[in-house]
Amino acid sequence: LFLSFEGIDGAGKSTHIEALAQALRARGRTVVLTREPGGTPLAEKLRALALNDPMDPLTEALLMFAARRDHLQQVIEPALARGDVVLCDRFTDATFAYQGGGRGFDLDVLATLERWVQSVPATPLRQPDVTVWFDLPAAVAAQRLAGARVPDRFESQPQAFFERVAGGYAARAKADPGRFLRVAADQPRDQVWQDVEEGLRKRGVL
Ligand code: C5P
Repeated sequence: LFLSFEGIDGAGKSTHIEALAQALRARGRTVVLTREPGGTPLAEKLRALALNDPMDPLTEALLMFAARRDHLQQVIEPALARGDVVLCDRFTDATFAYQGGGRGFDLDVLATLERWVQSVPATPLRQPDVTVWFDLPAAVAAQRLAGARVPDRFESQPQAFFERVAGGYAARAKADPGRFLRVAADQPRDQVWQDVEEGLRKRGVL
């Protein structure tokens, strides 16, 4: 079982991923908790470059996919082959939302890169079984993040950037409603968690 978690910065993903990992472990499942970009020593180095060094959108997109390929080969595919549950903080939808929506990079090129990178002999195209999407208006995210932490190259972007990223996620969700579990993230934390739990229960994950 492969779950990804998406949303703009400040949507509160990380808290709920931890809670879900605990809930699954309490039910006896073996959980691999990982993140993108990152999740392996090499991919974490690529993450540090992508998040801190100025670069053009193509270089940025290529680094994201390079990190993803290493992550898939080293961590995700072996874990899925063992029957573990993989919880991934961001996956390919983030590339479509941030590099596509946010940076305006060509979506068809991203889709081509996706096919190259995520096709392994066992699966034509590796996709999460469920993507939990923490949907938050960009204005609310900006308020939450103001002064909360030292921003990286993305978090310091203007609100318009996050509006485009949010639009990118909405488009992905619309194109694949069966995979996306939308959770309204502008609610109190407990309510967000309840919605996550309920949505995943309906899908047989919990
Ligand atoms: O999920 P997390 O906040 O740790 O992501 C780290 C940063 O990388 C975020 O600021 C996010 O905006 C950025 N990112 C990105 N493109 C991706 C994935 C993450 O710009 N494909």
